[in-house]
Amino acid sequence: MKKKFRIIKRFCQRLYGEWFPKRKKPRVLQMPITSRCNSCCLTCNVWKHHEKKDIDASLLKEALKDPFFSELQTVGINGGEFSLVPNFMAVLEALTPLPHLENIYLITNGIATEKIKEYTKSAKSFCSAHGISVTLCISLDGVGKIHDTIRGIPGNFDKTMQLIQDISKEKDKFCDNLVIGHTLSRFNIDKVHETEDFLSPFGLTLDVHLAVPNKRIGTYTDHDKYNILADDKCRQIAAEYFYSRFLYEDNLTAKARFFANYYYLKNNGKGRLSNCLYRYCDVTIDENLNLRLCATASESLGNLEKESASTIINSSRTKKEAKRLLKECNKCIHYAYYPLTTKGRILFAHEVAKQQYSMTIYKCSNRKQRLKVYLSALNKVIKMVVKYDY
Ligand code: SF4
Ligand code: SF4
Repeated sequence: MKKKFRIIKRFCQRLYGEWFPKRKKPRVLQMPITSRCNSCCLTCNVWKHHEKKDIDASLLKEALKDPFFSELQTVGINGGEFSLVPNFMAVLEALTPLPHLENIYLITNGIATEKIKEYTKSAKSFCSAHGISVTLCISLDGVGKIHDTIRGIPGNFDKTMQLIQDISKEKDKFCDNLVIGHTLSRFNIDKVHETEDFLSPFGLTLDVHLAVPNKRIGTYTDHDKYNILADDKCRQIAAEYFYSRFLYEDNLTAKARFFANYYYLKNNGKGRLSNCLYRYCDVTIDENLNLRLCATASESLGNLEKESASTIINSSRTKKEAKRLLKECNKCIHYAYYPLTTKGRILFAHEVAKQQYSMTIYKCSNRKQRLKVYLSALNKVIKMVVKYDY
């Protein structure tokens, strides 16, 4: 009884937090540390920026001392390309005032292989000494020429595969977790199964996400050339892909994420079902030390060299921007890994129950049997909506 009460209480708290969100201190910081990049991806405009800027590590260290950052647990380091930042270790050192930091998440394009290995090895030994784990995400957008074409760099695929193999062989020297990031766009959606098959002998799975319009990388108004939503055939293939992942996935959290992607694509890029903590909790700092809510659709709220994070966050312009951002969220699928909203839970549970019971209902020969199956399905839906933390 006590357990049931706890589950219902947690569910009500979550519902309240979802409907009346209050700004909280961030747990996750997204941090592009440079606008320099040695890749020319078709899904990104960072490499076209004239200004090539690295984050100032000493100013960053000062900025992170603000109490607003005291609950941070994860810092995502990306760019541009982190292996091009000469003072990369100083950037890591700037994170040490964060009292609750548990994980850093590095994303690389796999081009400067020796530098990437050198930097990640140093990062791993530095972080281990500070009780911080390292996740390394290597981007792979397809097999062979597909990857090279999307990335705009001939020979990138071979280098990336070599890097994946070198790091897999001695993973513990470089990172705690190795992830292969796969950005789905109009250029590779019909090849996603081929890429999955290609990687399976290495014991690695793809972490798939849709390429989205993104203000920070300069593609917010310039995304039709890669956005799956801009081509109905691609959208259909992507929706079917996510639905099949949803059908055959056993892990409930992953299953829910695939469902959220499927639902968004089915509805032509509307109807976000995953929560997004960047609306009221997590934040982004870019290479110029501008503070933003999310990297996707948020404008810069202020500069951490000029003002503290607490001052910026408590300002009226942040409240105004957070309100404006809400209108963007329904058509955004970035960070779809956050737990589902209540509406998302109901739709998800309904789809799972429908999937599991449809064949049983079909076999029922009378109304009594059908009613029994419906009630059992309904019971399952209610339990899934209230109980599980997906
Ligand atoms: S997606 Fe990453 S690797 Fe590609 S150009 Fe943009 S920053 Fe560089
Ligand atoms: S626009 Fe997207 S990334 Fe930004 S807060 Fe909304 S859902 Fe999150």
